[in-house]
Amino acid sequence: AAKTNCKGQFRFYDRMLYESIKMRLNTEQELLLALKEDQFLLHYQPRVAASSGTLIGMEALIRWQHPTRGLIAAHDFIELAEETGVINAIGAIVIDKVCADLAAWRAQGIHAVPVSVNISAHQFHDGKVKNLLAEHLAKHGIPAAMLAIELSESAMMRNAGDIFEELSAISRMGIKMSIDDFGAGYSSLPLLQRLDLHALKIDQAFTAQLGRGPDGATFFTATLAMARALGLRVVAEGVETAEQLQILQTLACDEIQGNYIALPVPAIEVAALIRQQNLFP
Ligand code: C2E
Ligand code: MG
Ligand code: MG
Ligand code: MG
Repeated sequence: AAKTNCKGQFRFYDRMLYESIKMRLNTEQELLLALKEDQFLLHYQPRVAASSGTLIGMEALIRWQHPTRGLIAAHDFIELAEETGVINAIGAIVIDKVCADLAAWRAQGIHAVPVSVNISAHQFHDGKVKNLLAEHLAKHGIPAAMLAIELSESAMMRNAGDIFEELSAISRMGIKMSIDDFGAGYSSLPLLQRLDLHALKIDQAFTAQLGRGPDGATFFTATLAMARALGLRVVAEGVETAEQLQILQTLACDEIQGNYIALPVPAIEVAALIRQQNLFP
């Protein structure tokens, strides 16, 4: 009976493996089809001054308008895109779309703020990101100061040695660089000093701790002190409540982003955001 059972279990696991591989292959093919059919679009989420609510910049966040599953957030497909390498094609599209949107806003006389683009560590290879940025800025006639990039901490710290030259070249172009999800990985202080960084974006897990117990703000307090010493700005991600905003103001955090201030919106709604003096609710 044990034998049968064992065999049965193997079958069961094989089946699960088979299903998961099949699901992956399907999704990979769907991602490739989505590229072909132009199903990706960008939403923009404002980043504001913590003290005044003034719009400082926007983050481009990719969305997938799936024909049957509806609008899918980056969270639900970016990892798969990275694992399958489809992220390279997606990354190129994102940079092109951001520059096209910036050009369209300019043409409409909308004084847009700089847009940050998320770049996965997987996208860096042979100066590819630098070339894409240069090419699309030129193609759409956009000044480099209107673009910024966000690099996730965990991915960067593993690869920063290899791509240091490319990152330096990107900042020499006048494109600002931030570390994303700061605190979720392990940063090396010398590396942070060596990279020409603009800001640290604190992972939303730490924002969620604010107001929760006596140690809730410790990570922010420590990071703010370090950032001041390094001359970097600090952005709180994932601000969801009035209480979190109030604590961040007391801590003198520089910038805020999160659903409490504004949700990510389609490009068409950006003009209305830019017209507002103050984005605080
Ligand atoms: P991220 O760069 O840290 O972006 C912030 C994520 O938090 C976004 O999820 C955003 O929609 C979400 N968010 C914003 N405010 C709040 C809030 O108040 N509460 C909560 N719970 N969440 C909030 P999204 O769009 O699903 O993106 C997930 C991640 O996917 C991003 O994290 C980024 O690492 C990556 N990503 C997004 N767009 C792109 C892209 O165009 N290229 C690449 N390579 N990665 C991207
Ligand atoms: Mg980001
Ligand atoms: Mg983040
Ligand atoms: Mg994140």
